[in-house]
Amino acid sequence: MSTSEVYFSDLRSSMKRNLLTKLGELLDRAGLEHIVSSRDLVALKLHFGEKGNTAYIRPVFVRRIVDHIQSLGAFPFLTDANTLYAGTRGNSVSHLKTAIENGFAYSVVNAPVIIADGLRGAAYASVSIKQEHVETAYIGREIVDADAFISLAHFKGHELSGFGGTIKNVGMGSAARKGKLQQHSDLSPRVKAKKCVGCGECAAHCSHEAITLSDKKKAVINPEKCVGCGECILICPNGAIDIQWSKDIVVFQQKMAEYTLAVLKNKREKSLFVNFITQVSPACDCYGHNDAAIVPDIGIVVSTDPVAIDQASVDLVNRYVPAEGSCISGRVQAGQDKFTALYPKIDWRVQLDHAEKIGLGSRKYKLISV
Ligand code: SF4
Ligand code: SF4
Repeated sequence: MSTSEVYFSDLRSSMKRNLLTKLGELLDRAGLEHIVSSRDLVALKLHFGEKGNTAYIRPVFVRRIVDHIQSLGAFPFLTDANTLYAGTRGNSVSHLKTAIENGFAYSVVNAPVIIADGLRGAAYASVSIKQEHVETAYIGREIVDADAFISLAHFKGHELSGFGGTIKNVGMGSAARKGKLQQHSDLSPRVKAKKCVGCGECAAHCSHEAITLSDKKKAVINPEKCVGCGECILICPNGAIDIQWSKDIVVFQQKMAEYTLAVLKNKREKSLFVNFITQVSPACDCYGHNDAAIVPDIGIVVSTDPVAIDQASVDLVNRYVPAEGSCISGRVQAGQDKFTALYPKIDWRVQLDHAEKIGLGSRKYKLISV
């Protein structure tokens, strides 16, 4: 495996060189001008944060990246796909509202927000990749249609994959509802009978006629007809339809890597990855809260290799002393694995190993300080 370059900036700054200037230098060193061409429509894929969460990437950094791309004559837009569960980003209306309330208004970031997979997450493109777990991936249409792709990931812990970085942001985050369900489960959604009041809204909405009401006025899903679009999960006003979460965390991580491959298909030379290793919270930004960071803020990394950047980010976090007062303080030391301390049953190496195996990139890297 070849060695990839990962450009790193710590958070030291001065009157002459502030963090925004350093971020611009990172983008230049990583070769942004060779990735983005004049008149390109550039998808900046990021997580806008669930309402109540405050650990997501600060909009002022995103503005800096937007301005940089615009200076190259291209047209950036901010994007993410709707969530599988019904939270504050489950459809495009609430997703846009949450994004704006969290600071991603046009007046702040200087670019429009375009939700990638339509009003209710049904606008996807089918991408054939023929991998071990995923034959066809279902990706938010607007991301597939973009000319160039830049991932802006908040690096943090994650309850299903140990850590969440570029691979999580790209592979899971870009998937439309059907694609998210495919990664999370091999099964149709299930109805929680106790919560179902028999209103029939799910049956009326399901375009595959996979839901009927039983004699007891409870919704029943026919797995033979269900195509796994996941829309009924969002539609039910009582939260009675749920995901049958896969217990196989290894397969989940491998699917996520395969989805990343799908997102980057035909865009490999037109993509760049940025990880913000700041406010490294223990869990996903999909929660409406974030616990204290597990390490001090470390910096920003940029690379054209989605595997190398995540490997470098894990290594940087693990190098540090845990933050005092965080949920892992006193349990691990500098140089020890913070993510295994957070989630002892999850081997985060799986996503990196599989990503490397399917040709996404290299776990070997050279860290270049800028
Ligand atoms: S929408 Fe929800 S409450 Fe209504 S029938 Fe379907 S599962 Fe039951
Ligand atoms: S997941 Fe989609 S196809 Fe399956 S029952 Fe729900 S709405 Fe119908």
